[in-house]
Amino acid sequence: MAKKYIYFFGKGKAEGNAEMKHLLGGKGANLAEMSRIGIPVPGGFTITAEVCKIYYENSKKYPIELYGQIESNLKKLENITNKKFGDKNNPLLVSVRSGAAVSMPGMMDTILNLGLNDKAVEGLSNLTNNPRFAWDSYRRFIQMFGNVAKGVPHHAFEHELEEIKRRVAKRKGIKDADSLVQEALNRQIPDTALEVDDLKMLVKHYKEIYKEYTHQDFPQDPKKQLMIAIDAVFGSWNNDRAIAYREINNIKGLLGTAVNIQMMVFGNMGDDSGTGVGFTRNPSTGENRLYGEFLMNAQGEDVVAGIRTPFPIDGLKKKNKKIYEELQNIRRKLEKHYKDMQDFEFTIERGKLYMLQTRTGKRTAQAAVKIAVDMVKEGLINKEEAIIRIKPEQIDQLLHPTFDEIEEKKAKVFSKEGLPASPGAAIGQAVFSAKDAEDWAKGGKDVILCRLETSPEDIRGMNAAKGILTARGGMTSHAAVVARGMGKCCVAGAGDIIMDEKSREMRCGELVVKEGDWISLNGSKGIVYIGKIKLISPKVSGPFGTIMKWADNIKKLGVRTNADTPHDTKVAVEFGAEGIGLCRTEHMFFEGERITSFRKMILAAPEVRLLRQALEQENNPQKIKEIESKLEGPLTQYLNALKELLPLQRKDFEGIFKELKGKPCTIRLLDPPLHEFLPHDASGQKALSKAMGVPLEKIKDTVESLKELNPMLGHRGCRLGITYPEITEMQTQAIIEAALNVHKNKIKVNPEIMVPLVGNVKELVLQKEIILNTIKKIKKEKKIKKMPFEIKIGTMIEVPRAALTAYEIAKVAEFFSFGTNDLTQMGCGFSRDDAGKFLGDYVKLGIYKTDPFQSLDIEGVGKMVEMAVALGKKARHNIKLGICGEHGGDSVSVKFCHRIGLTYVSCSPFRVTIARLSAAQAVIEENRAKKKVRRKKKQ
Ligand code: ADP
Ligand code: MG
Ligand code: MG
Repeated sequence: MAKKYIYFFGKGKAEGNAEMKHLLGGKGANLAEMSRIGIPVPGGFTITAEVCKIYYENSKKYPIELYGQIESNLKKLENITNKKFGDKNNPLLVSVRSGAAVSMPGMMDTILNLGLNDKAVEGLSNLTNNPRFAWDSYRRFIQMFGNVAKGVPHHAFEHELEEIKRRVAKRKGIKDADSLVQEALNRQIPDTALEVDDLKMLVKHYKEIYKEYTHQDFPQDPKKQLMIAIDAVFGSWNNDRAIAYREINNIKGLLGTAVNIQMMVFGNMGDDSGTGVGFTRNPSTGENRLYGEFLMNAQGEDVVAGIRTPFPIDGLKKKNKKIYEELQNIRRKLEKHYKDMQDFEFTIERGKLYMLQTRTGKRTAQAAVKIAVDMVKEGLINKEEAIIRIKPEQIDQLLHPTFDEIEEKKAKVFSKEGLPASPGAAIGQAVFSAKDAEDWAKGGKDVILCRLETSPEDIRGMNAAKGILTARGGMTSHAAVVARGMGKCCVAGAGDIIMDEKSREMRCGELVVKEGDWISLNGSKGIVYIGKIKLISPKVSGPFGTIMKWADNIKKLGVRTNADTPHDTKVAVEFGAEGIGLCRTEHMFFEGERITSFRKMILAAPEVRLLRQALEQENNPQKIKEIESKLEGPLTQYLNALKELLPLQRKDFEGIFKELKGKPCTIRLLDPPLHEFLPHDASGQKALSKAMGVPLEKIKDTVESLKELNPMLGHRGCRLGITYPEITEMQTQAIIEAALNVHKNKIKVNPEIMVPLVGNVKELVLQKEIILNTIKKIKKEKKIKKMPFEIKIGTMIEVPRAALTAYEIAKVAEFFSFGTNDLTQMGCGFSRDDAGKFLGDYVKLGIYKTDPFQSLDIEGVGKMVEMAVALGKKARHNIKLGICGEHGGDSVSVKFCHRIGLTYVSCSPFRVTIARLSAAQAVIEENRAKKKVRRKKKQ
């Protein structure tokens, strides 16, 4: 039997179903599904995405069987509709619609009313007794076909439409008809004001335009029209917009697009007809209420095109109560069936409702969370499903700052007429083209993209902008839909703004905003302000808090944070951090006066080391004395500087311990190379010399002596503590004394001291000895018999050699923390600072699936981690295992950490909730996979 390339749907039946998205595309699969569950859908058929693949692999030729299958499915469609394709009295008209497995809004164009020609238009006119409608459909068809299938520019047709409208305006005696600007003209003469003769004239001119651009007559044979349209859909799979969309959204592995050929239903048959789009719940807030927009006497894209401003769906209640109720019923039916919020499109033909599309609705993170929690309460889904549905990357949006309310009240309003199209707050400099948005953002600037309206060509600029503002279009306009998808703040359709893209400025009443001026957008309220408004950090509460509570009950992996200050610690604990996994002590040295003390230490340290080395080699007592006296000065300076630093560090640790109230705190000893703390430029060195009263030469010499060819592999990490043991001593002393002080105030403490960059167990042995001796000294000094809290000593695993020798290291270390930044750097051999030059290409070519510094390279670096885990557990069964690289906040990496049995992940405060959610999802996914295996075994 020939391979099946086409699936039919209609009259309450369908060959396909919702599970077949890969083959039928989202649109086709759901048209089939809706048809199956008894929702009114105009009949039609879907050509599979596989044909698209074959088309491209086979130098744009179709499998030969396709033609016959199109014929027979057209027959079927004719049978159920009682119309005939190409008939001049009772023509079957169809739409030709693209649709891939993943929805790509606005990416591929639809052709409506296909099947019309010079004869059929007369037939349709007679049959419906509605010539206006017939000719309106024909002019739309010529324009869409010309534009989508043949690339005739829109403006050519639009220009013609404008001409006709001017003529109508004159006829109606409207003053200045010739000089009206386009917007005013459209307002006075909407499309619906054109009469039959105007439309006939338009059709005549449109056909001329078509010929002018294509050098061909407008095709009159419907079968020819259909094949050209199908070609166009498959062709659009690889147009620039579609490619850009797939690139930005990282969409890979699709066969191509499917093509849907569907009987037309007409929303442009008069005032009892119309078209609209809707969501089963509010996609912006998640509120459980029908939401959408509609237009009467309109077809297809009119609602989203922004030419006429659509009405909120509630208005349909007044216009046609029966249809409104029916939509409510369908909304409930869809949700009950799909168990998720749906985004749908509908058309009313002479008082009868048809559904033309449904799909899982895109939503803001805020709505996603509310809908998931509500659906659990309504019994539609369970908690696990609710958790799985939230995309961890989306959580980021909930953590976006909002405006400080008091500051916002005081701010200068530019426009209040906009719609709250995508929530959040954004500040940026105004730019007026997508290209500028891209360029400015590349130059490191925050921009707000301001446009009359956006179109798919703007997508890269929209992606680069902090926020989007449009003067035209509704809640389902291109700008609004895309911004919500991107999680980007958007104010749409601010009708009081005069957007002058050419002169790069916009006006609202007296106020003017020029290119480069700062503005602030409130996407939750639809307000635009002049200037910058202060932002405040978000909180975990409401439905978000509920989801996170559920997640915590399910997850097994601990989630800690990387924090160096009491403030960061506090923020992270509020986000649910269960401790600190990485406290970097060096950041503390940069603040205020400390850097001076630290630099004093650095300026003396190298000399101390040289003289000490000399002493070791010297036997001559006279010389020894000489060296010792030389050593005295620098050594005093070195030790004094450390003494100055001790109380400062102690105080920092006290602050952090107080915030943690007994939660574990892993503190890493000094890690970066010393030269990072000295100025490298002449002016900085001069200033330092002056401030410290040290000769400039001395500073230059030190900088010179500390210079390294490859600092990443140089004198850093525990290598510092080994050559300068006093630093380790001072830091240990600060940690332990801080812990004792806090403990004295009846606050629990749980310090863990971490030695960085160990590659050889002997390094750890030496450092541990210093740490233990320091503790012993403190105990003796303070006459403490037994420390009143536990102190763990462990190491980072970030050098490949450490991963390989983890068995030996675990005998000395009580915990491992995988420093996956360095482990990736040394494991892949990519310098973190230079990899940017080629990694982009590597990802594009698929050498690495994603940037290994952002998402753990599971096959390579991950293997080292797994191996070290196994070896570590073998040597010490209760060893604590964590990860503290950037990867601790990356969802995929977190799930990997769960699978290999780590104790916790640690990430920056703002990623803590992402990690918690990912950890819960890891458990749920694991359970589901196990269930699947069990089910398979049973079969
Ligand atoms: P998109 O993928 O951009 O949403 P669609 O294929 O859904 O494009 O088509 C856009 C619009 O065209 C639909 O929302 C609907 O209003 C109209 N449309 C498509 N097919 C038909 C049809 N068979 N009858 C009436 N209107 C249609
Ligand atoms: Mg659609
Ligand atoms: Mg490191």
